[in-house]
Amino acid sequence: MKTIIANWKMNVGVRESVALARASLLTLRGRTVIPELVICPPFVALSEVRKVIARSAAQIGAQDMHWEPTGSFTGETSSRMLLELGVNHVILGHSERRNHLGETDEMINKKVLHALSESITPIVCVGETKQQRDAGDARSSVERQITSALQGVRLRSQDKLFLAYEPVWAIGAGEAASVGEVLEMHRFMRLVANELCGESAQKQIVIIYGGSVDGHNAYGFLREPEIEGVLVGGASVKINQLKDIVGAAAEVLVAQTN
Ligand code: PEP
Repeated sequence: MKTIIANWKMNVGVRESVALARASLLTLRGRTVIPELVICPPFVALSEVRKVIARSAAQIGAQDMHWEPTGSFTGETSSRMLLELGVNHVILGHSERRNHLGETDEMINKKVLHALSESITPIVCVGETKQQRDAGDARSSVERQITSALQGVRLRSQDKLFLAYEPVWAIGAGEAASVGEVLEMHRFMRLVANELCGESAQKQIVIIYGGSVDGHNAYGFLREPEIEGVLVGGASVKINQLKDIVGAAAEVLVAQTN
């Protein structure tokens, strides 16, 4: 399978989200094989988007979640609220939250554990900064983030967890990492994940890439078996780009079935 996670960030309001959700569903239409599409609108649009995708193959995710089910956490959103809205995925540890909102590895770990306990699939973002890469610390930074995020994680047979390799320098940059750079890191991440969760959990941990993925470069990533999907920010709110990304994933899937 190939998965496309559409992270709409804070870029669309409720009305735009509804229109974009409808248009996103159309990109799946008329295809014999379709990728998994997880739409992650802003919190305020979750309810309306859920209605739009209700009878479709698309799924819905939140862009963050608190680690407590309820409580005095002004402004936060809990798993219980998300479950009520039919949300079954959540992006955790996005670099924009780490960098602008002070999200720590410890907080991310608590969120991952809580999401799994509530049967919400975590999409855990990790990735090095430009400085870390230049200093030769890309692998060690990613390893540190994964080790911390997955501390105490015991996957049950029904659980699934995405690890999104999102080099900070490639997010919103207009220039993605090279396929070679991504493959090298994905292989390393697989080893780290195996070490932490055991090889028996391999199929449940899905490793995807994010960082300036668009309609032009998506196929190059998706045709690689070790790149199991893409997390798309900017291009996911541009419907022609999303259409091409979905098309690229579908092409790879068709080739796999032949
Ligand atoms: C992201 O938001 O995780 C992301 C990858 O953004 P973009 O595709 O715009 O680089």
